[in-house]
Amino acid sequence: MAENLFDKIWEAHAVRQLPSGQTQLFIGLHLVHEVTSPQAFEMLRDRKLAVMFPERTFATVDHIVPTDRRARPFGDEMAEQMMAQIEKNAAQFAVPLFNIDDERQGIVHVIGPELGLTQPGMTIACGDSHTSTHGAFGAIACGIGTSQVRDVLASQCLAMNRPGVRRIEVGGKLAKGVYAKDVILSIIGRLGVKGGVGYAYEYAGPVVEAMGMEERMSLCNMSIEGGTRVGYVNPDQNTFAYLQGQPHAPQGAAFAKAVEWWKSIASGPDAAYDDRVRIDGGAIAPTITWGINPGQSVRVDACIPSPAEFPEEERPGIQEALEYMDFAPGQKIAGTRIDVAFIGSCTNGRLSDLREAARVARGRKVRPGIKALVVPGSQQVRRAAEAEGLHEIFLEAGFEWRGAGCSMCLAMNPDKLQGRQVCASSSNRNFKGRQGSPTGRTLLMSPAMVAAAAVEGAVADVRALL
Ligand code: SF4
Repeated sequence: MAENLFDKIWEAHAVRQLPSGQTQLFIGLHLVHEVTSPQAFEMLRDRKLAVMFPERTFATVDHIVPTDRRARPFGDEMAEQMMAQIEKNAAQFAVPLFNIDDERQGIVHVIGPELGLTQPGMTIACGDSHTSTHGAFGAIACGIGTSQVRDVLASQCLAMNRPGVRRIEVGGKLAKGVYAKDVILSIIGRLGVKGGVGYAYEYAGPVVEAMGMEERMSLCNMSIEGGTRVGYVNPDQNTFAYLQGQPHAPQGAAFAKAVEWWKSIASGPDAAYDDRVRIDGGAIAPTITWGINPGQSVRVDACIPSPAEFPEEERPGIQEALEYMDFAPGQKIAGTRIDVAFIGSCTNGRLSDLREAARVARGRKVRPGIKALVVPGSQQVRRAAEAEGLHEIFLEAGFEWRGAGCSMCLAMNPDKLQGRQVCASSSNRNFKGRQGSPTGRTLLMSPAMVAAAAVEGAVADVRALL
């Protein structure tokens, strides 16, 4: 049976089979940020260990970084301590750090690709669930916990269970106003938030092939929300064009040689899979979550479902979501009033996301009383957006234009919801309390849909505004 990309990368990086049945896998790239690394470095210090491959390890600061006032020391003492800790650890263990004043700083899953650190055929680990983002380049990339961060720092290896591979083919062509975010919300809606447990997802088909690299990153980013730690797209001409000339990508003749290898690791037409799913991309509409996990979503022109539409065992969870979100079954999602609009995060804080949101915001105004934030995913995205004048469009419309960071995605910084506020958000999780208020409510959607909600004051169909 011909191998798929996942199998080829796995076998190329397998060091040995462990007595536990797991595989010891060599990790090509380890990305580090300030929240999940302090204890891991401390454990290295306790055991008098060094970082085994500092040249394969890169650190940045993103989760706790304020996006408005970035002067040190930060007002939040704990955030300031985390900053001081990562600076100390990076210096002591000789790990490069893209610090807050470095023009390469940004969200870890935005800067890896844009610096050319993320490459096809790699194994990539990071102490963050959304590491699957890097799979967009044809890599096996997965999030790890703090003790595994320690393991990778000390040995450059991980002990992993080998999953099966499910190929998800998205056929047809996306309609106007429908984006990668809508595709992944539809996939999770159909397969469920636990549907990917035990699988890696290979995203394929005409819709995925037509996506730019940034859209593929949005798609792979939310793999974890569908229960799989790994999601990837086979590398192709789009991938190579994106990487050519990036600072850490191979240069000159080495690039041409790398492309030959990258092509060879892609799944061939006769590759074998453990499961296949087909989705009609042409039938996907702008999609929004109405509940408290990313699988609870509806089309913008649909109504909130009733518990009776679900299997018996799911009904208590549906009822809980309805009560928390204050929705009634049968209520239209369009027209739901919002208090906050957030455009940013490692899912949708890249240049193409900001361009699409700006197309909606241009010449329109944010409804009075709505707090609307645009937070570029990295300083590089911010500079590129400013060079195109996107910041002027947003500022003119009444959005705030911020510095790079995770901002209101997880709200480990001053950007937080207050009380029961409803937020139209381009981020990736709508769990209870995710955006900083224990009672805050999150509606996940594409950045263009967030911009539409900001100017209409309520959930609106972006297709009418393009
Ligand atoms: S933007 Fe959100 S999901 Fe992404 S790395 Fe930051 S906190 Fe995690």
